[in-house]
Amino acid sequence: MTSGLYSDGRWTEGHGPRLTNKCPASGEIVWDGNAADANQVEGAVASARKAFDSWSRLPQSDRTAILERYAEEIGKRTEAIAKTISRDMGKVLWETRAEAATMKAKVAVSIAAQNERAGSKFEQSAFGSSHLTHRAHGVMAVFGPFNFPGHLPNGHIVPALLAGNTCVFKPSELAPGVAALMAEAFQAAGLPDGCLNIVHGARDTGGALLNAEINGLLFTGSANTGVFFHKHFAGRPDVILALEMGGNNPLIIWDPADVEAAADIAAQSSFLTTGQRCSCARRIILPEGRFGDAVVEAIIARAKGLKIGSWDEEGSFMGPLVSEHAAQAATDFQMMLSKAGGKSLRRLKRMDRGGGFVTAGVIDVTQAHHVPDEELFGPLMQIVRVKTFDDALDRANATRYGLSGGLVSDDDALWVKAHREMRAGILNRNRPTAGASGSMPFGGPGLSGNFRPGAYYAADYCAWPQASQVADKAERMGAQGFPK
Ligand code: NAD
Repeated sequence: MTSGLYSDGRWTEGHGPRLTNKCPASGEIVWDGNAADANQVEGAVASARKAFDSWSRLPQSDRTAILERYAEEIGKRTEAIAKTISRDMGKVLWETRAEAATMKAKVAVSIAAQNERAGSKFEQSAFGSSHLTHRAHGVMAVFGPFNFPGHLPNGHIVPALLAGNTCVFKPSELAPGVAALMAEAFQAAGLPDGCLNIVHGARDTGGALLNAEINGLLFTGSANTGVFFHKHFAGRPDVILALEMGGNNPLIIWDPADVEAAADIAAQSSFLTTGQRCSCARRIILPEGRFGDAVVEAIIARAKGLKIGSWDEEGSFMGPLVSEHAAQAATDFQMMLSKAGGKSLRRLKRMDRGGGFVTAGVIDVTQAHHVPDEELFGPLMQIVRVKTFDDALDRANATRYGLSGGLVSDDDALWVKAHREMRAGILNRNRPTAGASGSMPFGGPGLSGNFRPGAYYAADYCAWPQASQVADKAERMGAQGFPK
């Protein structure tokens, strides 16, 4: 059974409410199971606790070998993972194949990061030596978002296991299917029972996990949820929180020679994954005047020309939004911007084929009042026109978030200035804001997280350092004013 609860190496049926998931392209039910109830969540945490002692005491090389086998097992399941994610949340196949490949690649990156950032150090000293080692926290709760339901939880689970933690994973209820394939790959790789447990469900199941005896919470999702979790654990410094949240990301375009290239970068920044990437550009900031007008025209042409289709339709650039509800929320957000004085240049519309399908939208909010500093998780680009580059920087930084940002410009001096002044953890030049390297940290300040970036720096939050001074035998100690 792969739609149930996975605890202590066994699949069992959930005892909580029934949970189904529909493909946002076809409307068919693609996942059907029961959520885990609070007792089952506690049981999964107990199973992780039981496995922790022996797993954390294994030599690092043994854990590494199991994770390397997991990478191979994921590699064997690439196509199944890609199709499961596509059916569950609608992303087109070229994207989900890339996601599955990233899940495999994550293992080698995490091993390198573990060795470099959470390894050991030894120094000779006058009295003997100093040692640095790292210790695992214990049981980590992992919460995943729907938009990368395999890659992002995997990006917490792999480094957490490598460091010696055990995990209880609550997949997104909007994309639950991939979790079973991950569990299968871990089992085939020889991961001991109890090291990874899976509890399906929505908020009730998540709430039960928050209230269980966990040592850490590794979360990727929206700012609202992250802030709620942060408050939940207020006064609990003993629980490590790694919160990776969203953004209201700006992209400044300032007079590059190639207008068409600038429009490509802007449109891909905003419309990749149907706008459902945390790093998508929400706000495109351009100078007033002819150059800016030309870029906006070229962006609109791209928004019109995007091929939109279901995950298995050949040649589609983007699929539907994750649900009808998300499609309605996107049109409502657009309406709110129009009422605030935004001028629609290309409307985001729900498509006749139903489900989560929407077209890409572009709206000029330069004259709008009270535009909320919110992340709309969909393909709606806001255009802002300004007089000077300093104005552009001010507008870019006028957000409580700080996840990604970018500059499109051929001018090195502007890049130096933007690099110094733009407040974003992922800051790209002449590249889409949605592009990020797995071998770099991922995260940003403000409402985008709690300064515990993931990707290459995930090793940092998966273990705590232990520093020791070591002398081989006890010797008398003298000090000024200290009796002999
Ligand atoms: P979400 O916050 O709605 O849900 C994420 C997870 O938290 C899900 O498993 C959900 O069931 C759980 N959850 C939500 N509310 C809960 C509650 N009250 N109690 C217990 N559990 C709860 O996020 P989403 O809609 O699935 O994902 C999209 C969001 O994730 C966007 O905001 C996006 O920017 C963000 N995101 C961030 C990153 C990053 O690395 N910074 C990457 C991808 C997505």
